[in-house]
Parts: sequence; C-alpha cells; structure tokens
Amino acid sequence: MVRAVIAIHGGAGAITRANMQPEKEQHYIQALSDILSQGQAILAAGGSALEAVTEAVRLLEECPLFNAGKGAVFTHQETHELDACVMDGRTLEAGAVAGVSRIRNPVLAALAVLEKSPHLLFIGEGAEAFAAAHNLEQVSPDFFSTAERREQLHRALSTDQTLLDHDGEAKVSGDPIDPDHKFGTVGAVALDLAGNLAAATSTGGMTNKQAGRVGDSPIIGAGCYANNANVAVSCTGTGEVFMRTLAAYDIAALMEYGGLSLKEASERVIMEKIPVLGGSGGAIAVDREGNVALPFNSEGMYRGYGYVGDAPNVGIYREDRGRMDDNS
Ligand code: ASP
Repeated sequence: MVRAVIAIHGGAGAITRANMQPEKEQHYIQALSDILSQGQAILAAGGSALEAVTEAVRLLEECPLFNAGKGAVFTHQETHELDACVMDGRTLEAGAVAGVSRIRNPVLAALAVLEKSPHLLFIGEGAEAFAAAHNLEQVSPDFFSTAERREQLHRALSTDQTLLDHDGEAKVSGDPIDPDHKFGTVGAVALDLAGNLAAATSTGGMTNKQAGRVGDSPIIGAGCYANNANVAVSCTGTGEVFMRTLAAYDIAALMEYGGLSLKEASERVIMEKIPVLGGSGGAIAVDREGNVALPFNSEGMYRGYGYVGDAPNVGIYREDRGRMDDNS
C-alpha cells in the first residue's frame, strides 16, 4: 500500500522574531496548509504526482507571499526574470524555462515543455514564444511586481550588494523569515497512489541578481530532480552552490549508489556539502516509500507535507523540526 504524500516549500532563510507579526505568520501557515490540502486532494482522487506538484507550485506562484510568479524578486535592472522546472520520476522526462518575464505561471510553461517539446530547457524570448504558442496566459512584466519586493531591491541597491549579503536596516515586513535574508523559491515533491514520484521548482531568483543570471531552480539535478527508483527533490538556497554540488541529484545518487536512507542522504547534502562551499538553504524530498525529509541549514524554512487522509503538517522554524521530521 503506497503512502501517497505531497511536500512543499516556500523558501528558507533567517528568522526575524523581533519583527515577526503573528498575523503575518498565520498568513504563511494558512497559505501552506491550503496549498497542501489541494495537492492532497489531487492525490486522493488518483491524480498523478506530476499533476499534484505542478498545481501546488502554480498555487505558490499565485501567492504573493512567495518569491515565484506574483511576488517575484527584482533583478539589479529592476526587472523580473523567472525560472521553473518539473520532472516526472516515472519517465525521467523533464521540462524547464529560464529568464522569462511574461508567462503568468512559469511552472505551466515548464510542464508544456515536458509534455510537448523534444527539448528540455527554453530561455528568454524563445521560452515566451513557446508558451504563447501553447496558449499559456501572458501578463505584462509588472504583473509580478509588489511594493515590498521593490523596497527590498532598493535596500540592496543602496549597499550595492545582493540582499543575501545585506546587513540590513530595521525591517518592518513582519514576516517570520526576514525577506532580506531569505531564499523564496517555491517547490513541491510528491508520491502518488500508483507509486510515481515527481518534483517541481519555481523562482524569481535572488534580489539584485544581474539580468541574465540563472540559478539552480530550472536546472535538472541541481534545484529539482525526480526518479521513481529513489527520490523526488526540490531545493531552495544559494543557487550557484546548489549547481556546483548538483544538490538534488546528489541526494538521489547517495541513495542509489551509497545505500543511504532519505534522511541520511538529504542531510549529508544540505547540512554538510552545501555549507562547505559557502551555501545556505534547504530541500524537500520524498522517497519511493513515502518518507519525507525537509532539511535546511538556515534558521527557518517555510515548509509542510500532507499524507493522503491526514491533516497537513506545516512549519516555519527550526523548533518545528521534532514535530515534523519524525517520519523520515
Ligand atoms: N535557488 C534560487 C536561485 O538561486 C534562489 C532561492 O532559492 O530563492 O535562483
């Protein structure tokens, strides 16, 4: 009997307890719970893992609390460049787009690439044209903009650093995880009732990134990977380091070739290999038995999982770990 399950993340980062507003915290918990419930319903109805992760990431893209789709961060040039990918663990097929600014839901474009193109990764104008040709909704680039993200960019520009290095002035966002020290990528991984695994990841990238920069999120094996033989993984964090370590695939390889458990493999990568190269962030992963792991080396990560038939289990802080990680 397969333990069908979906897990999602909304980025990892530093906690701002001093500024945290309980209502804002509640917004995040509610959004994560609602999106998990919708993913669980898809799985319960016999939907595929690929359908569940795509819909969960689409909903995360639509939610301005997260740095993907609406609410995406700004580049140094004050534009948006979004990246997304999906991978089907059953067939090892994948699709991805990078550097797009007019596709409302980049994850749907990634799915269209997987389903309808012999290619795997489209960038920029070519990706926009591919999405338009497949009737995906187009928006004006400022659709993605929010006042909070623009202020974040201006704070970063004032110190001429990317925000992740920014020491910061007083923040008034009220978010549980400091938006100026957060990786806000979103992602989902799932195991369906038929025993298939899938993963999806979507991002606006990093605030104040240079135009044209692409991170790990749309790179198969770095920010996203799924293989029915072992595991589905979606990452968030310092994209350059997740690319150099092939983080998502490394978790799968440690399981396949090293015989490590899901928990051992994901912690080896996130808690040891990423920090050694100066990276931070986290990952969500589900294995073919339905075990879930949600490791992160930052102070917090917006995250949660839900087994079919159970209530969603959602957390933000490190202290939530004991309550959340028992099943891996
Ligand atoms: N990994 C993403 C990137 O480097 C950033 C994030 O996780 O928020 O583009």
